[in-house]
Amino acid sequence: MATLTGQQFLDRLRHNPPTLYVDGARVADPTTHPATRNMARSLAGLYDLQHRPEMRDALTFEEGGERFPMSLLVPRSKEDLGRIGEAHRIRANSSLGFLGRAPDYMNANVMAAGMGAGYFAGCEASGDGVRDFAANMRRYYEFVRENDLCLTHALTNPQVNRAKQASELPDPYIALGVVEEREDGVVVRGARMMATLPIADEILVFPSTVLKENADKSRYAMGFALPTNAPGLSFQCREPFDVGRDPEDHPLGSRFDEQDAFVIFDDVLVPWERVFLLYDVELANKAYAGTDAVLHMAYQVVNLKIAKTEAFLGAAQAMVEAVGSGGFQHVQSKVAEIIVTLEIMRALEIAAREGATLNSYGVMTPARGPLDAARNYYPAVYPRLNELLQLLGASGIIMMPSKADREGPLGPMITKYLQAAGASAEDRLRLFRLAWDMTLSSFGGRQNLYEKFFFGDPVRMHSALYEVYDKRPYVARVHEFLGRVDRAAEVAADD
Ligand SMILES: Cc1cc2nc3c(=O)[nH]c(=O)nc-3n(C[C@H](O)[C@H](O)[C@H](O)COP(=O)(O)OP(=O)(O)OC[C@H]3O[C@@H](n4cnc5c(N)ncnc54)[C@H](O)[C@@H]3O)c2cc1C
Repeated sequence: MATLTGQQFLDRLRHNPPTLYVDGARVADPTTHPATRNMARSLAGLYDLQHRPEMRDALTFEEGGERFPMSLLVPRSKEDLGRIGEAHRIRANSSLGFLGRAPDYMNANVMAAGMGAGYFAGCEASGDGVRDFAANMRRYYEFVRENDLCLTHALTNPQVNRAKQASELPDPYIALGVVEEREDGVVVRGARMMATLPIADEILVFPSTVLKENADKSRYAMGFALPTNAPGLSFQCREPFDVGRDPEDHPLGSRFDEQDAFVIFDDVLVPWERVFLLYDVELANKAYAGTDAVLHMAYQVVNLKIAKTEAFLGAAQAMVEAVGSGGFQHVQSKVAEIIVTLEIMRALEIAAREGATLNSYGVMTPARGPLDAARNYYPAVYPRLNELLQLLGASGIIMMPSKADREGPLGPMITKYLQAAGASAEDRLRLFRLAWDMTLSSFGGRQNLYEKFFFGDPVRMHSALYEVYDKRPYVARVHEFLGRVDRAAEVAADD
């Protein structure tokens, strides 16, 4: 199997549909349901991309006579990381960076966790045979690789009461927890708040919220993977943003609504061979850092965001050229702001790659500092990118007759009055509709929220950075400097 074609992906999804609910009804076939079919096609397009002769070497690698997706390559050198980063950017370009959860993201996670599988051997509940969590994790990476799977993931508990621990909620199984162990696996019950891209083959479940150490909490410490159609597992989708409009009218929403779903586990059996971690609070809290998965995922993200920022720059400049506003200084300054953001993200990618080192599992791992900077910086700057596009487009981003309007009775008037200095009415409207879908439509609004939260709560991410960043040398330097000042003052007084 190794690298799938789009058709193979669609066939697999059709034969093993996840248990999805949209607007109160079960989605029998996500490849034909109006809320999911276009996204399924876009994913299929990504699978086909890796088979294009001119893309094959950039998007796949060869091992043992077979080809696999580049996002599953185990990087052993900085050159390998460079190849992976380039593949991330090429794939991101196909959605202008607006598809947050292409399979590449979870592939980075599974690759790092699979290579760092030894981490899971430290779990006390891991024993012989099928309860060998390290072997399970390693085999899972191989399974994903052999089948070119598409994964989703769900990390956070339902937003019931953030002031309380999971065990203090009205029902101990609102948050996902272990109910019982059986000979064939472990039964879990509860819910997870969010899984983007539920039209996936499998779901990966790890905790992200820091659990506090005590016996009561250990039932919430777990890591496992399951097919998205496992018995008892269901996905409640949010309202779709693909509302059946022509791609000319909704250029992003009609193709890249990756969906976000609330995930319910109604006594789901997780077979032992799919369990990677159990009951071990400390190991669960540090799983992403302990395997370096967080860094490989962040490296995918920084490349994706470069592609997205390039799209903002392209759309901004195209609008400026269309309406002839490029001579105004403040307009230039606004486009320049986007350029600065782009160059900062590019510099952080280079710094992460050039500063990469082999981790204890022999994986070339990008440097943490620049990646931490990127994942804290981009959520803060993204609303400004949105604003800049809106400020440059002004009323043009809202006064956009549709394709049907252009073909209707007022078509000739629309063609005349909505022409632009640098574009026909048709081209101008297509461009401004893109800017609208990037920033203002329901699709664009969700992107704004996504960028703020998808890697975690920005407040707690800042806190985590504060905690881990080694600030001591700089404090010492300041004290040393102040000491010198004091000494200089003493000398001056003596003179
Ligand atoms: C569009 C979108 C897609 C997403 N996709 C996925 C996905 O595919 N998989 C996945 O696992 N997750 C996903 N997430 C969830 C994401 O991981 C969370 O949004 C993020 O971790 C924040 O958690 P929360 O949303 O539960 O916010 P909450 O934790 O409920 O926070 C709400 C507010 O309370 C504050 N707050 C809460 N607790 C604390 C605390 N202890 N200390 C300080 N402040 C606190 C927060 O700062 C925030 O202002 C997605 C989120 C969005 C918006």
